[in-house]
Amino acid sequence: MKIFVSIIITALVSISAYACGSCTTHASHANTKTVATPIGGHDHAAHNILLDNIVKTNSDGNHTALCGCGMEVSVNDLTLSSKIEKTTLYTCGKGCADQVSAASDKEKMELMAMWKTIAAPYVLASNSVTTDGKQVATCDCGMKVTVGEHTRSTIENGVQLYFCGEGCQNMVMNMSDKDRSAMQAKFTESN
Ligand SMILES: [Zn+2]
Ligand SMILES: [Zn+2]
Repeated sequence: MKIFVSIIITALVSISAYACGSCTTHASHANTKTVATPIGGHDHAAHNILLDNIVKTNSDGNHTALCGCGMEVSVNDLTLSSKIEKTTLYTCGKGCADQVSAASDKEKMELMAMWKTIAAPYVLASNSVTTDGKQVATCDCGMKVTVGEHTRSTIENGVQLYFCGEGCQNMVMNMSDKDRSAMQAKFTESN
């Protein structure tokens, strides 16, 4: 697991480094690094829920996921995955999948926090607009929400949806994958 997180850091530091978790070159490089995890302060991660690590949906409906090691993988029946709570993390191969499965709960939370940082550039659309320097989202219920650091949101399929509160967020998270994807698609079309 430490190796996996280290690889993520490597990927963050060097954007062009598409290191694979099972690649010996990158693994040995990662081994030499120590992991510094930001701990303490107010945890904003709870306000931001990531639904799976799918970052792209093409016009044929095919999904591309971003493995924790930084490698993009197309999602199909053969794609390996590991679950962290409600999030399915698709992985590039057995090496990365095993590392997610073997992680402790604490490491999984660290991994999710790390993953959100990696996924951020992959957010292609959202249900918010910026006016007069303020980011205002329209929640699924129609309510306007000024986006701040405490605003609840989910990121999936490259779309970040902000919510007025936990109720709306839970409602959307409990939708079927098909319905939720359709809802997200509306925002990619309008952008
Ligand atoms: Zn990987
Ligand atoms: Zn709402």
